[in-house]
Amino acid sequence: MTLDEALKHHFGYTTFRPLQREIVEATMAGGDVVALLPTGGGKSLCYQLPALLEPGLTLVISPLIALMKDQVDALEANGIPATFLNSSLDPASSAHRLAALDRGAYRLLYVAPERTVMAGFLTRLAGWSLRRIAVDEAHCVSEWGHDFRPEYRQIASLRSRYPNVPMLALTATATARVRDDIERFLELRKPRRFVASFNRPNLRYAVFEKTDALKQLLSWCTARANESGIVYVQSRNSAEELATKLSAAGISSRPYHAGLLPQQRARHQELFIRDEIRVMCATIAFGMGIDKPNVRYVVHYDLPKNVESYYQETGRAGRDGLASDCALFFSGGDAAKQRHFIRQIESPQEREKAERLLRQMLDFAATAHCRRSHLLRYFGEDSVAQCDNCDNCLQPPERVDGTQIARKLLSCVYRVREHSGFSSGAHHIVDVLLGKRTEKVIAWGHDRLSTFGIGAENSKGEWMAVLSELMRTGCIEQGSEHRTLFVTEEGLRGLKEHRAFAFSMPRFVAKTEKRRSQRIRALPTVHDDALFERLRKLRKDLADGQGVPPYVVFSDATLRELCTHQPVTLQAFRQIGGVGDVKLERYGTAFVEAIRSFDAADAAN
Ligand code: ADP
Ligand code: ZN
Repeated sequence: MTLDEALKHHFGYTTFRPLQREIVEATMAGGDVVALLPTGGGKSLCYQLPALLEPGLTLVISPLIALMKDQVDALEANGIPATFLNSSLDPASSAHRLAALDRGAYRLLYVAPERTVMAGFLTRLAGWSLRRIAVDEAHCVSEWGHDFRPEYRQIASLRSRYPNVPMLALTATATARVRDDIERFLELRKPRRFVASFNRPNLRYAVFEKTDALKQLLSWCTARANESGIVYVQSRNSAEELATKLSAAGISSRPYHAGLLPQQRARHQELFIRDEIRVMCATIAFGMGIDKPNVRYVVHYDLPKNVESYYQETGRAGRDGLASDCALFFSGGDAAKQRHFIRQIESPQEREKAERLLRQMLDFAATAHCRRSHLLRYFGEDSVAQCDNCDNCLQPPERVDGTQIARKLLSCVYRVREHSGFSSGAHHIVDVLLGKRTEKVIAWGHDRLSTFGIGAENSKGEWMAVLSELMRTGCIEQGSEHRTLFVTEEGLRGLKEHRAFAFSMPRFVAKTEKRRSQRIRALPTVHDDALFERLRKLRKDLADGQGVPPYVVFSDATLRELCTHQPVTLQAFRQIGGVGDVKLERYGTAFVEAIRSFDAADAAN
């Protein structure tokens, strides 16, 4: 069997993703390999396919016990004999698995790194004709990575025991330091290195001006009624609150953060993976180990810490390769808040570092150019200037000369403080600009200021957007109490030096949603939504019957293809991506029947 035939037979795929073939060939040639593929790049296949083509056992080292079962379930769904050993198993089932391993009944065995130094395990392993060691999430070996796990350093001890067994290290973390650490601490020998592009073409990036964040989020989720999404927030409290509010609005949701009990976290993750809730409201604690391939969107409700985290977090969308959205809800106020925290960092080096990371994040939020190119340049990749799949490429922002309007706002904030000796909040400042005689305006005499009413031709929304822009650029800041505004040194300089301010017109979710849906409607429909829902339900029923997550049965990508081609024979069904021979046998009839009866119902109507 050729590699291509094996790919179709075992996994149902017709083409390799970038570098998969090269990595498979290199590790099968017997040397050590380091593979850097982005999330969703298809790392697992790089060791799973060789495990099926060669005799012996592939040992897979993976950091998360919670995930091993899902990985093994997914392999079993394709008829591939695989198992795991970890502390969650009772003695009887451990013994059962060990005995089967002695018989050579499995092709892949998943374990956590600490097991690789347990004497009992090592003794048994010696009898299992070990063929290859795959180290998943290999960046865990490095302190420079984001998930350092000291146990990963123990893996190298296998090296001296099995000097001739090739190692394959896989990660989605691309920095040079981490890569060096992987090679050093795993004691790899002249490894061949494969580094894929970190571009994720199916992800659409967009930044929206945050005005009424909750309302914006509700309209976002409502527009994607049956889809799964992750909403990242900064604090545990926000995660809890938001999950409650979304659920109250009919969008099933749960929180995920480090303050929950482990059982609760596991339960919420399980509900999400099984498509029983739609939205996970999470802090960054929800990270590595989200193997759910059909996450259709990631929303950042608060400003991410830095560009690297932003990239990793958005990367959890669209692993199945289908179009998915990454939305950053941005306000200059969030930037001001972070600056405020950063000022309190004592060590000057740490402070400067935090400032630099924030500045980079703000550059991304503010750029009027292609966001994808911006991200890829950040990771040192050259890329095309236009991607046609980010907000700026799809709707180039209007740049306006904001010099006059910025000066009006800066002077108003300055005058109010000068006049009264105290600052006031954004709403009051805008009232003064608009010339509104509110109680406060009269009481404080702000209707007598030279800036009273000088902004009447602009709307409140526009003033808020300008304020956000001035906060983003550090010209205005907000006090920590009562959120009062003041002009910074930078802002004063801008005023004195008559500096020019250019703005991009802000995007608001609702407006863009409308334009977007118009665009989507203009495209020919490639799938039938009613049929998709029907197949989704069938998938869920089959999955529940077997106690596995729905994506283990078929991915969304497979369901979409089924809707497009509507195969009514098993032969035609086998041509669909994701249908391997075992799944053909297990699920073919059920799906073909569903499509046939759907057609019949259609014809009857
Ligand atoms: P990673 O670990 O790199 O994030 P995975 O190994 O979890 O990626 O694969 C992501 C998804 O892509 C999975 O649903 C997997 O089945 C699918 N996949 C992997 N390789 C291919 C391929 N060659 N063609 C189509 N889908 C693939
Ligand atoms: Zn672009």
